Amino acid sequence: MVKEQIITQYSCEYCQRQYINVETTERCEKRCHRHADSPGIDKLNISPRAYNALYYGNIETISELLQHFEKELSAINGLGRVTLLEIKDKLVEYKGQNDSLLEGTLR
Ligand SMILES: [Zn+2]
Repeated sequence: MVKEQIITQYSCEYCQRQYINVETTERCEKRCHRHADSPGIDKLNISPRAYNALYYGNIETISELLQHFEKELSAINGLGRVTLLEIKDKLVEYKGQNDSLLEGTLR
């Protein structure tokens, strides 16, 4: 007896990745949408420690990073003073090389 199985698949509008549930797909779209607006923080060349702290603090793009600078950043778990300074350095360095890509100013 052959049974037909229909599997519903959803795909992200931006990256075309496929998922089997809506929630995951929506999460991917949100994420992809954010990245479409601004380069990701991985472009900053920061250490994995700094990257992870930002990532889990829900900051994934450079424009988000600029918005959160710097008061709220210090509230992120695992983001100590040294890491914060590292991120700031990399951000200034990045801004110097890609000024036209960035909005906002650094103090
Ligand atoms: Zn996606």
